[in-house]
Amino acid sequence: MKILHFNDKGIYCVPGDFYIDPWKPVDKALITHGHADHARWGMKSYLCHHFTVPILHSRIGKDIHVKGIGYNETITINGVKVSFHPAGHIIGSAQIRLEYKGKVVVVSGDYKVQDDGISTPFEPIKCHEFVTESTFGLPIYNWDSIAQQNQAMQNWVLHNQAQGKTSVFVGYSLGKAQRIIKALNEIAPIYTHYSITKLNEAYEKVGVQLPNYTSLDFRESVAHVDQSAVIVPPALVESKALKKIPNMVYAICSGWMQVRGARRWRSADAGFAISDHADWNGLVTAIKETQAQKVYVTHGQTAVFAKYLTELGIEAVELHTAFGNEEDEEIPESV
Ligand SMILES: [Zn+2]
Ligand SMILES: [Zn+2]
Repeated sequence: MKILHFNDKGIYCVPGDFYIDPWKPVDKALITHGHADHARWGMKSYLCHHFTVPILHSRIGKDIHVKGIGYNETITINGVKVSFHPAGHIIGSAQIRLEYKGKVVVVSGDYKVQDDGISTPFEPIKCHEFVTESTFGLPIYNWDSIAQQNQAMQNWVLHNQAQGKTSVFVGYSLGKAQRIIKALNEIAPIYTHYSITKLNEAYEKVGVQLPNYTSLDFRESVAHVDQSAVIVPPALVESKALKKIPNMVYAICSGWMQVRGARRWRSADAGFAISDHADWNGLVTAIKETQAQKVYVTHGQTAVFAKYLTELGIEAVELHTAFGNEEDEEIPESV
């Protein structure tokens, strides 16, 4: 029996009779992580890592039926052994391992192999079949180390302060924003847009210690943030709210900045290629470590990446799913 079947609702586990990250309402949903394209509204029940529970409550609702599970803890659902393993993508993100009659399949959701200092680091899991993303599955994507990324952001803030400017960072609210906050510890006073504050609180609920920050309400005066660091979600780019910030310069934090930065977002003052997804080498290394003979590619650069895997002698299948890229979706095309 096939363990996985890909249908119009999502990734279905046939013997287990449940879905992983479904995009249409189903009875039983196992969730890899809290981003909106993986954790959607309308499931009768949700199972996710403990750290993802407060995120689902914050994003989907308080009244959902959700259960948490720890990393490496095994449960059996209709004869399928199920366990969650760190994916290193954002807090609580998990690869879901399924074992049935000696066959092992891993569904990785989104992942990165760099240790960002907040998310539990990625662990390679051996399997027969591996389901991967390929958001940055082109050889041109090659991230700096986390230390270099942090240093670059710190230098930018210090440089701006010396010029009497306020540094505004644009990054999505779940995952990226918290990494930026952590990087700027003791560099400048930190302010976060309220939508980010809400998710900071979900992080703090599960024991992540973030540096001090103050929530910013743009309906009130924001004159006091002068020469500090302000973190806002991509929806605010070019907004009136942003223009209220005194002496403002702004930077986009996204993996796309490695290639498209200056051209696509000309109005930004700076760009940092910081991503919660694996770069080309990260993807290739992670997949080799699984020793999988068959790989399904769910989203991103699926054609190029599947072709490359085939050249490596791995059977690769391109899928069509409803997964997107949070780094793309949240930045208005017009900017
Ligand atoms: Zn994600
Ligand atoms: Zn995704």
